[in-house]
Amino acid sequence: MKIFSVFGITKSGKTTTIENIIRELRKRRYTVGSIKEIHFEAFAIDTPGSNTDRHRQAGSQLVTARGNKETDILFDRRLSVDEIMRFYDFDYVVMEGVTDTCAPKIITAHNTEEVDERLDETVFAISGKLANTMQEYKGLPVINAITERERLVDLIVEKVFTRLPDMPPECCSACGFSCTELAARILRGQAKREDCVITDGRISLEIDGQEITIVPFVQDILYNAVTGVVKELDGYRENGEIVVKIKGK
Ligand code: SF4
Repeated sequence: MKIFSVFGITKSGKTTTIENIIRELRKRRYTVGSIKEIHFEAFAIDTPGSNTDRHRQAGSQLVTARGNKETDILFDRRLSVDEIMRFYDFDYVVMEGVTDTCAPKIITAHNTEEVDERLDETVFAISGKLANTMQEYKGLPVINAITERERLVDLIVEKVFTRLPDMPPECCSACGFSCTELAARILRGQAKREDCVITDGRISLEIDGQEITIVPFVQDILYNAVTGVVKELDGYRENGEIVVKIKGK
């Protein structure tokens, strides 16, 4: 899955930019999902005293509201982008307002001061209201998402790469960089997505069909523990693929 974020100050054109991107990606027959970050502190779809809230108050750990037009699964905490992505399976995922990720980003802004306040090495384009007044800023293309929708999506298709694991730097630097630094290098053409060694790790882990990212030192622990045991068993073959399944209760 390829994932990117569009972020900027309120009313700078984020949602309009995203609407146009999604329309164009769908027109090109890509599958698309989206995530909207809500910055309003008290935001909650569920309301105190509702039936679903009463389920939760009684101790239910995952509540689903199943209606005729939509089904809402209500988690009682803020999920990380990584956790949310386990429920997604699309060609592209567009995030609105998400900044705590190493994914490539588009800034929307009214003016260059707003860009400067937000600019980092993972930004590959600028859009929003600023695109009415300029076409390039600090070497980045400034693209009008309404009148140049195809050009903006051409750039997304060219630049956005399969999601990196988004590990904290203290957990992994196996490629020689942090995830954010590698993302920036990929965007600048100085590295490739395949340089993330986690993807090609010798251990993979799935829980209920969802792939879980494992940092190299945990891969080593699992590898040594599992191969150390199975080596002693009849039927062990050097370099054979080993599959261990642990059933849930
Ligand atoms: S190897 Fe992958 S997960 Fe590890 S720091 Fe590099 S990009 Fe991140």
